[in-house]
Amino acid sequence: MASPSLDATQLDRYSRHVIMEEVGPAGQAALLDSRVLVVGAGGLGSPAIQYLAAAGVGELGIADDDTVERSNLQRQTVHRDADVGRPKVESAAAFVARLNPDVEVRRHELRVGPENVASLLADYDLVVDGSDNFRTRYLLNDACTLAGVPFSHGAVHRFEGQVTTFSGGADGPCYRCPFPEAPPPGTIEDCATAGVLGVLPGTVGAIQATEAIKHLVGVGDSLDGRLLVYDALGTRFEEVPVRRDPDCPVCGEGGIDSVAEVEYADTCAVAAPADAAD
Ligand SMILES: [Zn+2]
Repeated sequence: MASPSLDATQLDRYSRHVIMEEVGPAGQAALLDSRVLVVGAGGLGSPAIQYLAAAGVGELGIADDDTVERSNLQRQTVHRDADVGRPKVESAAAFVARLNPDVEVRRHELRVGPENVASLLADYDLVVDGSDNFRTRYLLNDACTLAGVPFSHGAVHRFEGQVTTFSGGADGPCYRCPFPEAPPPGTIEDCATAGVLGVLPGTVGAIQATEAIKHLVGVGDSLDGRLLVYDALGTRFEEVPVRRDPDCPVCGEGGIDSVAEVEYADTCAVAAPADAAD
């Protein structure tokens, strides 16, 4: 744990954290010393970026290769009307700069892919997955699990959200344990086709930020092993256990050693090992 070394401005800014014994000056210093990567500066990424920055996470990586569109603004709250057409990474970085000068933003204006994911993760303590597609979701799961980087998973669809945390260890579980492959293309509609209640990713992304902050401070019980399913229309939360699958293609025995073994298109399936010749 980093030694508490908060200056007077920081003691003021973070006073509601510092006053709680579960966080205290040491917990706040740990946050200031932390590096979190948020993948996707969209509906889930917005509240995550907002609350991680407000909490004083010292280094915030933001990865996104998109530009702001007007149809994003109904839910992607770090962007403003004047940002339409601007890279999301830039717009999100400007938001953080206005909010908290303690936070250094690292802009990754790129599409996270098998070729860059390992070097990207190497610089971070934890990843918040705010992506909106199965390809990135499976890629992040596989890369984080292989590298032992904890990550928070969140997803939204119409009025329903789901969120959980994976400790990132080789002992699993990981996202592939309950969901070994992505559904075939075209079977699940995306937000553009199916719609999404604008506030829903706000709730889910805020839970992802909560999980990240707890992990970095080292308090509480995480969602590791539990998928929290949120029905916004009925205002109901339900928990589904997530168990490790010993035959999981990533965290199971004989699982992959590298994301290079996976074709991240369509179902993101791990290729069956070639039959041994002997
Ligand atoms: Zn697994």
